[in-house]
Amino acid sequence: MHSFHYQNGSLHCEEVDLNQVADVHGTPAYVYSANTIRDHYRRLDQAMAGVNHGIEYAVKANSNLSVLKLLVEEGSGFDIVSGGELRRVIEAGGDAGKCTFAGVGKTREEIEYALQQGIYCFNAESEEEVAFINQVAGEMGVKAPVAFRVNPNVDAKTHKYISTGKSENKFGVDFVGIEAAYDRAASLPHVTLKGLQMHIGSQLTSLQPFVEAVEKVTPLALSLKSAYGIEFFSIGGGVGIVYDPALESGKPEWWAAQEEEHKPLTIEQYVAGVLPTLEKTGLKILVEPGRYIVGNAGVMLTRCLYEKKGSAKTFRIVDAGMNDLIRPALYQGHHDIVPLNEPRDAAMTQVDVVGPICETGDFFCQNADLPDFSPGEAIALMSAGAYGFVMASNYNSRGLPVEILVDGSDAKVVRPRQSLDDILASEKAVL
Ligand SMILES: *Cc1c(COP(=O)(O)O)cnc(C)c1O
Repeated sequence: MHSFHYQNGSLHCEEVDLNQVADVHGTPAYVYSANTIRDHYRRLDQAMAGVNHGIEYAVKANSNLSVLKLLVEEGSGFDIVSGGELRRVIEAGGDAGKCTFAGVGKTREEIEYALQQGIYCFNAESEEEVAFINQVAGEMGVKAPVAFRVNPNVDAKTHKYISTGKSENKFGVDFVGIEAAYDRAASLPHVTLKGLQMHIGSQLTSLQPFVEAVEKVTPLALSLKSAYGIEFFSIGGGVGIVYDPALESGKPEWWAAQEEEHKPLTIEQYVAGVLPTLEKTGLKILVEPGRYIVGNAGVMLTRCLYEKKGSAKTFRIVDAGMNDLIRPALYQGHHDIVPLNEPRDAAMTQVDVVGPICETGDFFCQNADLPDFSPGEAIALMSAGAYGFVMASNYNSRGLPVEILVDGSDAKVVRPRQSLDDILASEKAVL
C-alpha cells in the first residue's frame, strides 16, 4: 500500500500536490513518501513480533541519507553491499553493529573499514573470502564475525537477472558442502562463526519459493547452531511489490477486492508462511527487505516534451531517460504511467513513452494503452522508489535528478538536482 492518490484532479503524495512539486523543482524528479516507508517497516516488524528478529533494510534499493535516517529512527538495521553503503548508514546516524555486509567481492579496504566500525557480521559468499577476512582481521588483531551465504538451489521464479538462489548463479556457497565449509572456517583463528544467511532472489510474488528455501535450510541452521553456536539465521529479502496496477493497489480496498488465489503476496502472509518453521530454531531471525520497504513509496516525475507521430507508432518523448530510471532497459521492469492531471474520461491512446537518450532501449513503455496527456504535462512513473535513483547515471552528460522526501504536507529536497558544473568540475580541474 502507499500514499499516492488523486485529489482535486491532481496526483498527490500524502498531502503534497505533485504538479506543484514538478513546477517548483523541475523534472525529472524522484519523490518518496516517508509515511509509506514507515508503514512498510512497521507492518513487517509487527508481523515478526513473536520471534527474536532484526530487520536489515537492503541499502542498495534506495540509499538516500534521509531515507536511511528515517529507517534509523524506526530502529532498523541495514544490509550493505559496499564500504560506501556502510559510510552512508553511519552518516545517517546508523550503527555498524546492526549491519550485515553482503556481496561476492569485498575488498581489503572495505573489510578493514567494516572491522574498524564494528560490523555485526560479514555474510561471506566463498571460503576464499572467509580466508581473506581471517587474514585481514589477524593483521588488525581482531576477530571478524562471519556467516556464510548458502545457495539453497531453489527456483525463485522471477526474472533471470534478479534470481540468485540457483546453483548456476554466482551467489553463495553450494548447499552441498556448506557444512564442510563451516568446519574448515571454524579452525581459522581470527573469525567467529556468527550465523547463516540466504537470499534467493528479488521481486518474488508467491510464497512457495520462500517456504521451500526455509524448509530446506532450517535443518542446516539448527545443525550449525549446535556445532558452532551460531546466533542468527538470515532469510534474505526478495518480497515483491505490485507494479501493476500501481495506483489502485495503494488502497486497502483494492487488496480486499482481490480473489484469494490471485491476491499478491502480502507481508503478513510471507511472515506467517515462514515463521512457524523458523521459530523452532531459537535463532535470531533476520530479514533483508529492500524493494518491499521503498519500492512503491517512490515515483519518478517526468514531463512530456513532444508527441511524435510516426507511420507505425505514436511516441511521447519525455524529459527522463534510461539514465534516470534503468529498470525497463535493464530487466524489462514495468512502471505504470500515471498522468499528474487526473484523466477526465476513460479514453486510452496507444503510445510508446520514450526518453531522450541515444539508445533504442531508452523507453518506459511500448504499445501501451495510456490515459491521455499532452506535451507540457507531467506524468509519474510509479513504483520507482527501489532500484531507481540508485542506478541513475550521467550517461549523455545528464545531471542526476533531484530527490524529494514528502512527510505529510512537507516536501523536502533531500538531494538537489546535480548541475552541469558538478558533473564537469573534476575534469575541468585537470584540463
Ligand atoms: C539485494 C539484496 C536484498 C534485497 O532484495 P529485495 O528484493 O530488494 O528485497 C537482500 N539481501 C541481499 C543479500 C541482497 O543482495
